[in-house]
Amino acid sequence: MGKEQKARVIFHVDMDAFFASVEQRDHPEYRGKPLVIGGLSGRGVVSTCSYEARRYGVHSAMPMGEAQRRCPQAVFLPGDYARYREASAEVFQMFTAFAPVVEPLSIDEAFLDMTGMERLIESPRAYAVRLKEEIRQRVGLVASIGIAPNKFLAKVASDLEKPDGLVVVPPDAAGVRAFLWPLPVRRIWGVGEKMARHLAALHVRTVGDLARMDSARLRAQFGAKTAAQLHALSFGLDDRPVAPRSEAKSIGKEETFARDLRRQEDIDGVLLRLAEQVGWRLRCAGKKARTIQIKVRRGDFTTWTRSRTLAAPTCYDEDIYEAAVTLYRALAPAGGIRLLGISAQNFGAAEELSLFDAERPQKKENLYRAIDGLKQRFGENIIGHGHT
Ligand SMILES: [Mg+2]
Repeated sequence: MGKEQKARVIFHVDMDAFFASVEQRDHPEYRGKPLVIGGLSGRGVVSTCSYEARRYGVHSAMPMGEAQRRCPQAVFLPGDYARYREASAEVFQMFTAFAPVVEPLSIDEAFLDMTGMERLIESPRAYAVRLKEEIRQRVGLVASIGIAPNKFLAKVASDLEKPDGLVVVPPDAAGVRAFLWPLPVRRIWGVGEKMARHLAALHVRTVGDLARMDSARLRAQFGAKTAAQLHALSFGLDDRPVAPRSEAKSIGKEETFARDLRRQEDIDGVLLRLAEQVGWRLRCAGKKARTIQIKVRRGDFTTWTRSRTLAAPTCYDEDIYEAAVTLYRALAPAGGIRLLGISAQNFGAAEELSLFDAERPQKKENLYRAIDGLKQRFGENIIGHGHT
């Protein structure tokens, strides 16, 4: 507070009834029906259920027997976690394509830090609409998104209009209060059932009641540390950064073809497309790579990888393409090609590249910033280097 800080733009993206939605996507016969996923044995609990089942009062963490009593007509499934992980990987791929910084929270939710993207996108809301649409079209699942100046508010916001929600919290203090204060205190991180009862006994039911509570009284009730935290959150204050949990060791892209490729120009065309996609992802992640690797799989499944270390780390399409083509020419595999892949590895830590920093004078970076701006706005495939 007090000190003027650059407003952050944080998305919290949370898939709606994730496991149940994957099942309904893959099994049309489950659509529109109550569906409960969880341990089917004696002491199993519900891990997810469809919105149809929630109408009967079924919710996650409920004992399976209780769920069966409340909604006996539901379809009960043990869950297919390999398939959920696969869907999760696809969704996270989309997050990384849309946002420069992604912090995974669980298999189906993440914080995306969009700060600095303001110049490249029409508006956070429009960008979120596009992300939701892209997830719906490419993965066949529905996400809810909360947009706010910090993680706490973004998480509260994503939950408010589920399913298929999109809630934007205004970044200014008055807007934050108008959003937050009418909500029940249970919406605050760390306020469980027990603390909510304790607060209700003190006539504190909404976040606004909590914000207005005398701070000495709050400290006396909950101790200095908890009181300070409750007070800050009740004003919507939270300065924790969005921190990617683990750094990717490589950024890559591969394509499998319906029919094996034989003509050199087709192969070069694919390598160029892959180089552009890898370059784009590197620039989004603010990374430059020293090593470029290709993966080649022939129709008979013989597979090769070849890599090459560059004189200087790069994030540019043409450098990646050149390295890939050189590697491919040297390998010169005979026969039809079933799969081609390019990955960039060995990230240069020394040079921090800021894609969204307007003060960079170099022509190449300006050019790529313009290209990437269009890609952000109109999708990854809008511009290519002379191929279709
Ligand atoms: Mg979820």
